[in-house]
Amino acid sequence: MVRKAMLKLRGSKRYEYLREYEQLQWQNLDKIENYQFYKLKKLLNHAYKSVPYYKNLFKNLGIHPDDIHNKDDYSKIPILTKNIIKTNQHELISDRFDLKTLVRNTTGGSTGEPLQFYREKDVYEQMSANLMLGLKMAGWNEKKSLILIWGNPKDIQKKNDIILRLKSIFSMSVTLNAYKYNQRSFDSWIQTILNSGNNVYIYGYPSVISDFAYYISSKKINIENVKAIQTSAEQLLPEQKEIIENVFKCRTFDQYGSRECPGISCECEKGSMHIFCHSNLVEFINDPSTPEGTKKLIVTPLSSYAMPFIRYEIGDFAVPLEDQCSCGRGFPLMQMKIGRIYDRFICANGQVVHGTLLVRQVAGIKGIKNFQFHQKDFTNINLFIVKTSSFDDADEEKINSIGKNISAFLGSDVNLDINYVESIPQTIGGKHRQFISDMRFS
Ligand SMILES: [Zn+2]
Repeated sequence: MVRKAMLKLRGSKRYEYLREYEQLQWQNLDKIENYQFYKLKKLLNHAYKSVPYYKNLFKNLGIHPDDIHNKDDYSKIPILTKNIIKTNQHELISDRFDLKTLVRNTTGGSTGEPLQFYREKDVYEQMSANLMLGLKMAGWNEKKSLILIWGNPKDIQKKNDIILRLKSIFSMSVTLNAYKYNQRSFDSWIQTILNSGNNVYIYGYPSVISDFAYYISSKKINIENVKAIQTSAEQLLPEQKEIIENVFKCRTFDQYGSRECPGISCECEKGSMHIFCHSNLVEFINDPSTPEGTKKLIVTPLSSYAMPFIRYEIGDFAVPLEDQCSCGRGFPLMQMKIGRIYDRFICANGQVVHGTLLVRQVAGIKGIKNFQFHQKDFTNINLFIVKTSSFDDADEEKINSIGKNISAFLGSDVNLDINYVESIPQTIGGKHRQFISDMRFS
């Protein structure tokens, strides 16, 4: 039965893509960049012909995709900001796609501006292939156990959510609920790992895996069968890396991407972050607002045709590296500088809820320009909101109902205090945090 399912998966599109990417990674950089530019031109032509926003943009700029001969030409196209996407939702959708067939998604978000967007189903096949490609860099293969410490689909209302799709990618894997957990959950996670054979690979949020590692360490439990841990969706902080590697006695591998631009880069066995050029064109630009020693990342997902993002300002900071990696892969290198950092809500009974679950409550409310949740103590959360100029009564009604939704998973004694403010102070080198907790897990 399992073998049958495996064979079926192997014949699927994600495996076709995986085979293609696996071959491409060993080619030289020139060949990879030629392929990347070919994909870019195809996307630009498609956008020019079928996406109203880009038809207008190219017309106003007086250029045609045929005028773009290299990356320098390409860098003259204006940057796509989250604000432009919010105000041009429908104009950004290609007329070659029927909205009903598309998957609606929202940004997990790094910059505090919740954003809705649409992707065709094929993008998720490519995303699956990239996830497998990245896991293989960490030593995983289909015969080895994979444990996802990730969102539990039961906590997610939208049936087309990316996490449900992620779960379906690895039908042979086990998912542990990273959205809500306590010490009892950790005891059962430990049993799951210990019962999963000699070659266990873990994939998940660094914030949650480091909480888990602290717990294992405090209980002095010995775990010997984890071979590698790949962290994703949040920046892996040095102190998290240290506790995770000490407790699990294996290496961590960082993976970088976002909901709107999956599969941007991944750490190889030699410790370098390789850019997945086949999936995204990544530009590093200087900008006066960029924190010192970093460059602003501009990303073009090369396979998103339903709602193309051309030169998208993702909101993270990194630097390109000129070095060649001794692993032999041709994919170029980058170093992450400032990415997304999430916090957790800690309940009085020891239950922990991932900040993503709260952040989801505000995603999609059009009148919100920026927001931040801040947990002060076990029962009080402040929600700071910066309104857009089009904020209306419907937005206010949705915001007022957030408190009720939140008490469903945090407990009825939790009080949400909503504050409308002019701006939200930025933290850590100019980066915005959507969720901050003053409480610690113990
Ligand atoms: Zn490498």
